[in-house]
Amino acid sequence: MAKYIFVTGGVTSSLGKGIIAASLAKLLQARGLTATIQKFDPYINVDPGTLNPYEHGECYVTEDGAETDLDLGHYERFLSTPTSQANNVTTGRIYQTVINKERAGEFLGKTVQVVPHITDEIKRRMLLLGQDGKFDIVITEIGGTVGDIESTPFIETVRQIQWELPEEDVMVVHLTLIPYLNAAKELKTKPTQHSVRMLSETGVHPDVIVCRTEHPLNDDIKRKIALFCNVKAGNVIESLDASTIYEVPLLMLKEQLDLIVLKKLNIQNFKDADLTKWNIFLDKLKHPKATINIGLIGKYIELQDAYKSILESFIHAGAMNEVKVNVVNVHSEDLTAENVNEQLTGLHGLLVAPGFGNRGIEGKIVAVKYARENNLPFFGICLGMQMAVIEFARNILHLKGAHSVEMDPNTEHPVIDMMEDQKRITMKGGTMRLGSYPCTIAKDTLAYKIYGQTNINERHRHRYEFNNTFLKLFQENGMVTSGINSDLGLVEIVELPKHPFFIGVQYHPELKSTVEYPAPLFVHFIAAAKALAAKKA
Ligand code: GLN
Repeated sequence: MAKYIFVTGGVTSSLGKGIIAASLAKLLQARGLTATIQKFDPYINVDPGTLNPYEHGECYVTEDGAETDLDLGHYERFLSTPTSQANNVTTGRIYQTVINKERAGEFLGKTVQVVPHITDEIKRRMLLLGQDGKFDIVITEIGGTVGDIESTPFIETVRQIQWELPEEDVMVVHLTLIPYLNAAKELKTKPTQHSVRMLSETGVHPDVIVCRTEHPLNDDIKRKIALFCNVKAGNVIESLDASTIYEVPLLMLKEQLDLIVLKKLNIQNFKDADLTKWNIFLDKLKHPKATINIGLIGKYIELQDAYKSILESFIHAGAMNEVKVNVVNVHSEDLTAENVNEQLTGLHGLLVAPGFGNRGIEGKIVAVKYARENNLPFFGICLGMQMAVIEFARNILHLKGAHSVEMDPNTEHPVIDMMEDQKRITMKGGTMRLGSYPCTIAKDTLAYKIYGQTNINERHRHRYEFNNTFLKLFQENGMVTSGINSDLGLVEIVELPKHPFFIGVQYHPELKSTVEYPAPLFVHFIAAAKALAAKKA
């Protein structure tokens, strides 16, 4: 059986529990152990799939088609190992399971209660990934902040697990904030003391306290925290603000978080941390040879988390190309045929983002037209690809009012249509075309040049598709459908060979980009933008 590490947070939210969990897992992986990370979220939604990106940022989709929290994206980007539905559990899912069991009569007439029935189901899921021998370590991030009403059953379950498992098989890492009071010129430990006290009142005792801070903590402060919070002196570590999240594993290595964990869990079989690939990436990231400007055309640009995986993919692909990718956010609602020249000037590439619904749609189409006519490297993802198809239909095929039936159900030219089996679906959650699907790439295409192979798998999250009724018309007029799902007969990739770099994909390549394996589409898109920037210079 695996050993279990729980990561809780105190004082405030947004301290970066996900990054600390991912960094710790990375270090353990670098030492030769296998680790996975899961997130338990306290909200009632069964998964974040139905949440507005403004509420919760991007919805991250796993290989098996689970709609999950964006922290799972960090886990995969750090570890390069896939997660699954089992890695993200919400209160809603727990209750749904328990209530379904109750309806099936499985509780045999008993009163169903938070303790033990809800906590038993939480426990079953918290321990699940550690039971088939696949992982040495299972790290569980508990969403929310200690003291929240919603997370109480999760924390209670951690208490039970800490009590039930041998001491060397379980530990708790608590992340807090040490604020700096400018007026007093002092770092303050009181909020941390309170948050640890609150955690202790629930019966959970942290083994390690990781302190987020803008200023280094001296030994006196660490000792004080250790004393008042009842942890070993060496087990209070600082997590200084970093210039990039990808530096955090190195900061944690310096603080010896991995060694503290290995000692507590009594793991003796490990090697020196091998972070060679990681360090090569970081070195390139920190020493770019040029800067390029990429326009990100979207409708959620006020909230950067809405495009988390795309932004991280730019960072991976930028490092690979040794350039800094300066992302210029362009609100699709503000973009019109009249102002497009002015708005998009100075860019070296254009990415039209995924999305849902009508808002900002015409702006996206205007942006595609601009990129196509001005030989600007273009990359459309999901809705972005659909907009490239619509733009081509309207302006090259002269199909007036061509649209997606998502935006205009009565369009005369539904070049993007709903899949047949989607038409029968009425429920919203988990019902899109989700998860990994194979795609066959045609030789002598840009897509083939990018992937270097004919068979790929990429992840999906959409309801609408290229309408094959129009396939011939598009092909005859110069749009190449270079990637096809042959099982379902669906167009997955479109490109324009006369253009230096114009590609749209129905899937989400950003979901598979990791530090050590950047997504090829992003790498080539950034390379094309880099080439344009060099030409212009
Ligand atoms: N709204 C479009 C669809 O459902 C695109 C979805 C997306 O961009 N993820 O097909």
